[in-house]
Amino acid sequence: MDQANLKPNFCQKCKQEKELFTGKLCSFCLIIVLEKRIKKNIKEQGGFRRNEKILFLVNKSLESKASEYFFKKIFSEMPLEIDYEDKGKQYNKLIIPGSSESIIEEFLDSLFSNKKFNFGKQIIFLESLTGEEIKDVAKIKNFSETLTQHELLDKIEKKYPGSKLSLLKSIKVLET
Ligand SMILES: [Zn+2]
Repeated sequence: MDQANLKPNFCQKCKQEKELFTGKLCSFCLIIVLEKRIKKNIKEQGGFRRNEKILFLVNKSLESKASEYFFKKIFSEMPLEIDYEDKGKQYNKLIIPGSSESIIEEFLDSLFSNKKFNFGKQIIFLESLTGEEIKDVAKIKNFSETLTQHELLDKIEKKYPGSKLSLLKSIKVLET
């Protein structure tokens, strides 16, 4: 299919004329694309196994709301023991309901404070999504929360393009 011939308001995937979001996709197709991407990315991060004890660190952010939404969509059939607050169990995995930016910020924060940073068993739920995509999900699903601002990170990224990705890579190397 020659995409150049499509009119601007046609979804790249279903070819219907609809309101378009990131990637020139309609709301329906965008959610499907993001769902598949999150599923694949979480598998790459180690994924979940049946009956694992999971601590899902929900908070009041948009990232958290979007993580909960996709978690239910993708993993509702899987038998997992999920706690939404730390009950002091031995958890197999920790879900950080944020983007890669959240984890970089948490890491930087731990450098400047005495907080412990423990990456090992963490799953960054929205690692594969951009801020724009998370904002689109909020719009499509009518979530009222707003996207967390990462001003320091945005400044660093503007000055040194690509630094977010390198930071995330370094953190992962450090912790494995
Ligand atoms: Zn579509």
